[in-house]
Amino acid sequence: MKKIQSIRGMNDLLPEESPVWQYLEKTVAQLLGRYGYREIRFPILEPTELFKRTIGEVTDIVEKEMYTFDDRNGESVTLRPEGTAGCVRACEQHGLTFNQTQRLWYQGPMFRYERPQKGRLRQFHQIGVEVFGLDGPDVDAELLAMIWRLWQQLGIDKLVTLQVNSLGTSESRGRYREALVTYLEQRKEQLDEDSQRRLYSNPMRILDSKSADTQALLNEAPRLEDFLEDESRDHFSQLCALLDGVGIPYQVNNRLVRGLDYYGKTVFEWVTDALGAQGTVCAGGRYDGLVEQLGGKHTPAVGFAMGIERLVLLLDVAGVVPDSIGRQVDVYLLAAGNVQVEALRLGETLRSQCPQLRILNHCGGGSFKSQMKKADRCGAQVALLLGEDEAASGQISVKFLRQDKPQQSMTIAEAVVLLNQQILSEDED
Ligand code: ATP
Ligand code: MG
Repeated sequence: MKKIQSIRGMNDLLPEESPVWQYLEKTVAQLLGRYGYREIRFPILEPTELFKRTIGEVTDIVEKEMYTFDDRNGESVTLRPEGTAGCVRACEQHGLTFNQTQRLWYQGPMFRYERPQKGRLRQFHQIGVEVFGLDGPDVDAELLAMIWRLWQQLGIDKLVTLQVNSLGTSESRGRYREALVTYLEQRKEQLDEDSQRRLYSNPMRILDSKSADTQALLNEAPRLEDFLEDESRDHFSQLCALLDGVGIPYQVNNRLVRGLDYYGKTVFEWVTDALGAQGTVCAGGRYDGLVEQLGGKHTPAVGFAMGIERLVLLLDVAGVVPDSIGRQVDVYLLAAGNVQVEALRLGETLRSQCPQLRILNHCGGGSFKSQMKKADRCGAQVALLLGEDEAASGQISVKFLRQDKPQQSMTIAEAVVLLNQQILSEDED
């Protein structure tokens, strides 16, 4: 019978890989906590209308990337392609933005029907952050400082570059869009195919074109920064001054636009050239109009999302994954002979008295020799041998698997002391 395979672009995370993910997720969650951000969780499935209204009808995501289907009631539902829309929906539904600010984060799977390749999947994972109720550049800068600290902590700060831009307000963007279309219409034949298609649907995305010819054409095109009104211009220059002041390196990229319609004023991306074409590891910006667009009161907002798969790849390329996270067992408890009860009881005693340790009880019997192979293979530091003699005398044999020390016999109380010390001294290395 043909075996069933996973859906293309939807990966399994295998046990060898999960420690890096846990390390990354834990590091980010702790860091966000230190800045006063709180976690929010919302559904993976939402009414299709939510994404159409927020992300924009003519964006790539809504036009061709969403997993949309009718549920059994005939209502159109969509697997979330990103988190901002659902986060805003949840906040509005529960009154979280009413007369208060919110600093929130979330994580989880997102779904986009894209062409799967390295760093581009159909089910991928993001950690996202959203701030509501603050309109100044100070909070934009706070987000960037927080991300910068994260890169430093992870050891990838040398591999990423921050690009920032201002998209202005929807009025100034509208004026710019007209000027851009007028300019490009006269040179339509020279545009790449994608850009020709976007000329009337989403012309700003042309700035983002990967085609060298199109980019050359844009050199003479009207520039977005010349169309910004004072408010956006001030916001942006204050943001740049704050970044300078706190010492975060960045580049102004006047052609940086985002693939979602709701952004205005500040936009940013952290990019790396260590991952080939999928170089954006974190992206975001300001979306002051979105809450209102979903029927709420005017609420300024800013946020970002980082792609976990790409970050894991980057940690790997950078060689900065700490060795210790790969090891998942500290102590392997071997049991040979008629000692099942004693072995189970000993495992429980040790877990109570050495709460830092990860202890694996051998199950399934077999000789000490065959069990020892498993102990070695699982990466444990220490093997504890419990045979019938040990069980009868209340002793245990301790064998050090990674150190050149003789095997020792001792009481369980002595073993507890030793194991706790062993772990402490390893943490110091
Ligand atoms: P890209 O330009 O690479 O398509 P995007 O602008 O569509 O990215 P966003 O919607 O801003 O991406 O999502 C934020 C981050 O989520 C990206 O910077 C990236 O790290 C990650 N991401 C987006 N789409 C995917 C995907 N299909 N597979 C893996 N990661 C993704
Ligand atoms: Mg995309």
